[in-house]
Formats: sequence, structure tokens, C-alpha cells
Amino acid sequence: RSIVLKAQGLKKYYTSGENVTKALDGIDLDIYYGEFAAIVGTSGSGKSTLLHMLGGLDTPTAGTVRVGDKELSRMDDEALAVFRRRSIGFVFQQYNLVQTLNVRENIVLPILLDGGTIDEDYCREIVTLLKIEEKLEQFPNQLSGGQQQRVAIARALAGKPSILLADEPTGNLDSRTSQDVIAFLKASNQRFQQTMVMITHNPEIAQMADRIIRIEDGRIKTSVPGYAEDEHA
Ligand code: ADP
Ligand code: ADP
Repeated sequence: RSIVLKAQGLKKYYTSGENVTKALDGIDLDIYYGEFAAIVGTSGSGKSTLLHMLGGLDTPTAGTVRVGDKELSRMDDEALAVFRRRSIGFVFQQYNLVQTLNVRENIVLPILLDGGTIDEDYCREIVTLLKIEEKLEQFPNQLSGGQQQRVAIARALAGKPSILLADEPTGNLDSRTSQDVIAFLKASNQRFQQTMVMITHNPEIAQMADRIIRIEDGRIKTSVPGYAEDEHA
């Protein structure tokens, strides 16, 4: 299987005064083409930091992240921006919705501003499956946390990214909706051969992944197959 993202010897240390926080302390990780991986671990273990590094949103203290034969930290700002725009969809924990834009604009404007085109049918399908089709003309502050979270997911997927990186994409959803959203992500993962990496605290959600990567104190503790439902079917 081909490797989409390769982290080697990845470290991220934060220093304030005398204190050094080893957010990542030597991560070696291969993410394979088309896989759906879950990152789990206690709060503060380094999950968000790892996800940010994989997407080139932050630079490591040591080590490398490669996408194909390119090393992210050696790309200039423009090449990195192109990589993120063309290849990656992010779902951030804080959603990062633009408050002055309505839901429809939040979903499509990032693509249009990048000179991309919108696949109308696909976008309609996404917003229907995420059950936000009635909310398109509303603004983020008119939505519940769970609705905002689904808008953030729709926005990340609208450009059909080859890689989706999601930080707690169901953190604000009830259990039923969480399962529906992850089932939808899995369907998208299989249909478009997308590579997905998501952080989750929810064991039931993690079990839906192909692989569960457990982080502890900035290191990979275990990396084991999940038990995807369709493998039992
Ligand atoms: P997780 O996502 O698993 O909760 P994080 O990656 O957010 O963990 O954080 C890992 C560790 O690094 C924590 O101790 C956190 O406080 C610290 N940390 C994360 N980001 C920063 C930052 N920008 N500045 C200083 N410390 C940080
Ligand atoms: P998580 O819930 O995944 O642990 P956090 O709430 O820890 O995420 O982190 C949210 C954001 O705050 C991240 O961008 C992270 O880099 C930053 N952050 C986390 N811990 C610290 C810290 N101790 N000092 C400064 N920034 C931090």
C-alpha cells in the first residue's frame, strides 16, 4: 500500500521559561492511501499537535513529515499553502467558521476564492446527509454547536480533498448523530479513496476506523486495527 503521509522522528517541544512541554516526543507514523485512522489518547497527550503537524499547520522541533517525496518543513509558504488547499480538508475543534458569512458561503467561499469550482450536486448531497440543508441561509451564531460542527465538516469535504484531517469531528454531537456522521465520512472515504485521520475521545467512534493509533505523552503507544463494521458484514 502506498504511503500518503510519513512522519519520522517527529518532536514538538514548547518552552516557557524553565519549563519544557514535550507535546510530541518522537513519532514515527505512516498513513496509508485510502485509510481511515483514528487517533486516541488522554487530553494533553499530543493528538492535536500531531494532527496540525501532519497538515503542515505547525513546524516540528525535530523530525519530518513527508507527503509523497516532499518534506513539508522544506516547502516554502506558497507551496505549503497550495498543498493544504489542493489536498487537505481540515475540521478544527473550534470549527473556525466565519461569523459574517452564512452557512452556504462558509461552505463554498473557500473553494471559490481559491479559483476552484463547486460540484453543486455533491455539495447538495453533503448538506443533506449532514442535515444542514435547512440552515444554508443562517449565520453561525444562529446555530447550535452540533450544527456548526456539521457545517465545518461540510466545508472540509466540499472540495473533495484527498486527505481529511479532523479534530474531534463529533465532539459536539449526540451519540446517534455522531454515528451517522462517521458512517457518512466512511462512505466518502471509500467512494473517493480519501485518506482520513480523525481525533476522537469516543471509543465507539474509534472502533469504526481501520486503525486506532493511541498516543501517550507525545509517543505512539499502540497502533492496532479498528473493527470496521463492514468487515464483519
Ligand atoms: P491533545 O490534543 O492530546 O489534548 P495537545 O496536542 O493539544 O494534546 O497538547 C499536547 C501538550 O502540548 C499539552 O501539554 C499542551 O498543553 C501543550 N501545548 C499544545 N499546544 C501548545 C502551545 N501552543 N503552547 C504551549 N503548549 C502547548
Ligand atoms: P485538545 O482539546 O485537543 O487538547 P486544546 O484545547 O488543548 O485541544 O488546544 C486547542 C488549541 O490551543 C491548540 O491550537 C493548541 O495548540 C493550543 N494550546 C493547547 N495547549 C496550550 C498551551 N498550554 N499554551 C498555549 N496554547 C495551547
